[in-house]
Amino acid sequence: MKVIDLTKNTKDLESKILPAVYAIKKGDLVIIPTETVYGLAADCFSVSAVNKIFLVKKRPYRDPLIVHISKKSQLSLLVDKIDHRVKKLIDLFWPGPLTLVLKKKKIVPDIVTSCLDTVAVRMPEEKITRKFIDLCNVPLAAPSANIFSRVSATDLPHILSDFKDNSDIKYVIYKGRPKYGIESTILDCTDYPFKVLRFGALEIEEIIKKTNFKIIESKNFKLKKAPGMYKKHYAPLKKTFMVKDLLKYVEKNKNDCSGDIIVCKNKTAEIIKKINKNIITIPYGNTLEEISKNLYFCLRLADSIEGKKILIETVENRSLGKAIMDRIKKASAGKEII
Ligand code: AMP
Ligand code: MG
Repeated sequence: MKVIDLTKNTKDLESKILPAVYAIKKGDLVIIPTETVYGLAADCFSVSAVNKIFLVKKRPYRDPLIVHISKKSQLSLLVDKIDHRVKKLIDLFWPGPLTLVLKKKKIVPDIVTSCLDTVAVRMPEEKITRKFIDLCNVPLAAPSANIFSRVSATDLPHILSDFKDNSDIKYVIYKGRPKYGIESTILDCTDYPFKVLRFGALEIEEIIKKTNFKIIESKNFKLKKAPGMYKKHYAPLKKTFMVKDLLKYVEKNKNDCSGDIIVCKNKTAEIIKKINKNIITIPYGNTLEEISKNLYFCLRLADSIEGKKILIETVENRSLGKAIMDRIKKASAGKEII
């Protein structure tokens, strides 16, 4: 696995990423940057290449993949017709972190969609991703570049720690830390009102504000409609818990908390340090935007250092906070310390 480093400059971009384009054309895998998290990409029409994604990630076949396109015209390769509301979503939010689940064309292989009659599609905002797809001249199936159920990768060391010795992945196109740091928002658009299958980097409130569409956020249909949604996901290997009133908890358990790793707001971390300097704090920012960008990064860091257990401070469950809370709940498998 070779690293194509674009962090210093993107001059001669095309010639730098061309070897990775050939790898895709040969049916191999490439790790690509996006504005959400790093993706593990394959030609979506090649069953054998897509199969490698499942094997390399140890991902169950029942968990369908998102297909990435570089221009709106490519959508017609994957789906037959779109209605006026879907068109409006595309016009307003693509390119961007919004994935749409639509009725698929027969040509989309069953392995990509876990035999569903729908396909999840998005057009990334990150220009390098779109340039890469353009050069590949084919839509790319790409889940996050991490071993299944582990924390998604948002930096090179995370990718290397999961896949360093893998021979099916030929290149990593490295572009530094992604702008959003959590996955795309997924909307089921096969029926109206549309339904949220996953909260993500694009806030549902913003979609509603700009479109006036009715969008249902109910939990009940998620497992049936989006088979890859699990209670434990994006999870560190260490024991992990979420804590709502973290300061109260630390005050009460000052001495027991020595050796714990606490992933929390910057301002919470400052106070904790004063309470007990033996508690390890990893600050994830103060605003929801900062927390979304840093959460996975901090969880990976928490997992890579010595410590008893990981405690994550929860955030308010509104706007981007819904996506962040979804990840915190999954990282801790819903285990809460009060
Ligand atoms: P990721 O693992 O981040 O690439 O996200 C993929 C997720 O998108 C899956 O786990 C599913 O929950 C959802 N998804 C993908 N394709 C479909 C589909 N055709 N219908 C419903 N949900 C889908
Ligand atoms: Mg994933």
